[in-house]
Amino acid sequence: MAPATSTKARAYARRVNPAAADLAAMTRALELAVQAAGADDVPVGAVVTDAAGSVIGEGRNLRELTHDPTAHAEVVALREAAASIGSWNLEGCTLVVTLEPCLMCAGALLQARVSRLVFGAWDDKAGAAGSVYDVVRDRRLPSRAEVVGGVHADDSTMLLRAFFESRRQP
Ligand SMILES: [Zn+2]
Repeated sequence: MAPATSTKARAYARRVNPAAADLAAMTRALELAVQAAGADDVPVGAVVTDAAGSVIGEGRNLRELTHDPTAHAEVVALREAAASIGSWNLEGCTLVVTLEPCLMCAGALLQARVSRLVFGAWDDKAGAAGSVYDVVRDRRLPSRAEVVGGVHADDSTMLLRAFFESRRQP
């Protein structure tokens, strides 16, 4: 069962409305997630937009393809965004991802000083942005991010469900 703080964090994240640029970025992130599934990776896609809403980085889960345990969609997108602007500091940027980030990716987006996180489906088992943990809004840490959760969540959930169901078949 989810702790009370998690329920509160979720309710808050739902009250913040996504901007038009967030929705466009989520549509792109979902396309990237489909590509991940095509390469036998868990379908998760991510996009980084700058303060003006322009896409500066894209990523999809590449863990199976690259045999890299850290190649989650968010990390791949953050690396591309940082390379494209020539700085690790992504303050003012938004990370848009189809699934609630794990602990590693929540840590990575804070290290990059990303200002906003927009995500699709909640991850009850490993989510670190309001489900199991709420790392990105932990006041004990020096940097935090605004969170908008549940954006096009059904599309993301459907992709993940289809992926895992197809893998269960003999
Ligand atoms: Zn992750």
